[in-house]
Amino acid sequence: MDYDVIVMGGGHNALVTAAYAARAGYRVGVFERRHVIGGAVSTEELVPGYRFDYGGSAHILIRMTPVVQELELARFGLQYLELDPLFHCSDGDTPWFIHRSADRTAHELETLFPGQGDAYARFMRDWTPFARAVNDLFLSAPSPLEMGKMMRRSGGELGMQAQLARILRPYGDVAREYFTEERVRAPLTWMAAQSGPPPTEPLSAPFLLWHPLYHEGGVARPRGGSGGLTRALARAIEAYGGQVHLNAAVSRILVERGRATGVELADGSRFTARAVVSGTHVLATAGALPPEHVPEAARNVRVGNGFGMVLRLALKEQVRYRVHHEPASRVGLGLLIRDERQLARAYGDYLAGEPTRDPPLVAMSFSAVDDSLAPPGGEVLWLWAQYYPFQLARGTWAQRELEAREGILNAFEHFAPGTRDNIVGELVQTPQWLHDHMGLVHGNVMHLEMGFDQMFAFRPFMAASQYRWPGVRDLYLTGASTHPGGGIMGASGRNAARALLHSLSRRGWRRA
Ligand SMILES: Cc1cc2nc3c(=O)[nH]c(=O)nc-3n(C[C@H](O)[C@H](O)[C@H](O)COP(=O)(O)OP(=O)(O)OC[C@H]3O[C@@H](n4cnc5c(N)ncnc54)[C@H](O)[C@@H]3O)c2cc1C
Repeated sequence: MDYDVIVMGGGHNALVTAAYAARAGYRVGVFERRHVIGGAVSTEELVPGYRFDYGGSAHILIRMTPVVQELELARFGLQYLELDPLFHCSDGDTPWFIHRSADRTAHELETLFPGQGDAYARFMRDWTPFARAVNDLFLSAPSPLEMGKMMRRSGGELGMQAQLARILRPYGDVAREYFTEERVRAPLTWMAAQSGPPPTEPLSAPFLLWHPLYHEGGVARPRGGSGGLTRALARAIEAYGGQVHLNAAVSRILVERGRATGVELADGSRFTARAVVSGTHVLATAGALPPEHVPEAARNVRVGNGFGMVLRLALKEQVRYRVHHEPASRVGLGLLIRDERQLARAYGDYLAGEPTRDPPLVAMSFSAVDDSLAPPGGEVLWLWAQYYPFQLARGTWAQRELEAREGILNAFEHFAPGTRDNIVGELVQTPQWLHDHMGLVHGNVMHLEMGFDQMFAFRPFMAASQYRWPGVRDLYLTGASTHPGGGIMGASGRNAARALLHSLSRRGWRRA
C-alpha cells in the first residue's frame, strides 16, 4: 500500500482534507494536475515583478471557519492582511465605503444619502442572526435536521414567517425593500450577483442576506497572493509526513470489488491507498471512474454556461480613480457599477449568448496593502466582470477575447481614466480559458450552478451529498462541487475530512 489516503486534485478544499488526514497520522499523497498548487487559489509571478492570482482573491468565508486555526496555518507561513475598508462602492461620481465596522459604514452612509444609513443598520439587525446561522450550516454535512436548526436559530427581530418570505425571494427584490437609493442598492446587489444567479432568481436572497458576515469575519488577503493559503496547506501536509505531487494528472480512479483502491496517473504509474478523496470538479471525478460506477445523476449536474471573466493587469503606476480617496479606494474590493440597468443588460447579453460590452466590475488592486505583489510604484489590478457565456451565439472565444477585454477596460476607464496607458503585462481569463487551464468546466468558478436545486443536500446530487461517492466504498468527495459550494472557504474540505477520518478510525486504520 503506497498511501493511506490519496487525494486527487490540489485545490484548497482537497488540501484542507489532506492536511487534516496527515495531521491525524495517515500517510497522504496529493496528486495535482497543474504545475502550481492550489487550483483556483494559486498565485504565480506571470509578469516579472508582478504576482498574479489565477482564481479567487478575496478571502472572506474561510475566516469564518476554524480551518486556519485548527491547522495552525500561520506556523506554515500563512499571513493574512486585513482589508479596511472592505469595499469601495461607486457609480463613478459618488463613492462610498463599507468599513469593517458596520456602525461606521451606516454613519457615513447616513451623511451621504440620508435615510440609507438607517436602512443599512436595520438590514444588519434583521439579518445578522440569519447570516451566522447560515455560516454554521456550512460547517457540517447538509441534512434537513441541520436546516431546521438553522431556521430556528436565525430568528432575529423579523419573526420566522417574514424571514422565510424574504429568503424565498430574489435578492434584487430584497435589496429594493431595504434601500431606496440606487447608488447604495446597486453595489450590494452586484456583490450578491457574484455567486452566479441573477438578481431576479427566486430563492436567491441568501446571497444578499449573508452580507453581515463581511462585517463579522472581514475580508483578507494572504501576504504574497492568494496562493499563500494553499502553499501553507501544502507545507502543513508535508510537515505531517504527506507528499504533494505536481504535474501529476490522475487519469483513472481504480475500483476493485466496489471499493476505491488507488489511482492511475496520465503517465501510467499507479498508486494504491486505503481511501481516495477527489477534490476535482464532480465531472472530472465521474470521468475518472469506470462508467458502471457513474450514476445518471452525476452526469446530469447543472454546470451552466460560465458567467464571469477576469482581466488581470500589471500596471507601471498605481490606479487613480476619477473621484479618488487615497488610499481607501484601492484597498478593498471595488464594487464598480453605474446603475442597476448595467447589471440587467449584461445578464440579457449573456442570455443571448453574447459577451457583454459594458460590464459591472469588481476592481482589486491589492498591491495597495501588499508590497510583494508589484515593483515599487507599480500595481496589480484585477477586474472581475459579468456576464460572459462559455458557449457563444456567434464565433469562438479565441475570436472574441479581444472585444471582451476592450469592453472591460472601457468600463473601468469610466472610473479611472488613463489606466490603459499604464499596462505593462496582462492575463485575460475568459470562460474558455478557465475551462481549459483550471479544470473549471464551462468556466464556472463555482463548479456547478449555485441554484437552490444544487445547494445543501442537493449538491452535487442527492446520493453524493455526504461527501461519499454512491456505490463505491472508500471514495470521498470534496471541493466546490459539494456543499457548501464555490468560494474560498475550506468548509467542504473540513466536512469531508470529518467523514473520512470517522470512517478510517472506525475501521481501526489509525496509524501509530
Ligand atoms: C477567476 C476566479 C475568481 C474568483 N474569485 C473569488 C474570490 O475573490 N473569493 C472567493 O471566495 N472565491 C472566488 N472564486 C471561487 C473560488 O476560488 C473557487 O470556487 C474555489 O477556490 C474552488 O476550490 P476547490 O478546492 O473546490 O476546487 P479547485 O480550485 O477547482 O481545485 C480542483 C483542482 O483539481 C485539479 N485537477 C482537476 N483534474 C485533475 C486530475 N485529473 N488529476 C489531478 N488534479 C486534477 C485542478 O487542477 C485543481 O487544482 C474565484 C474563482 C475564480 C476562478
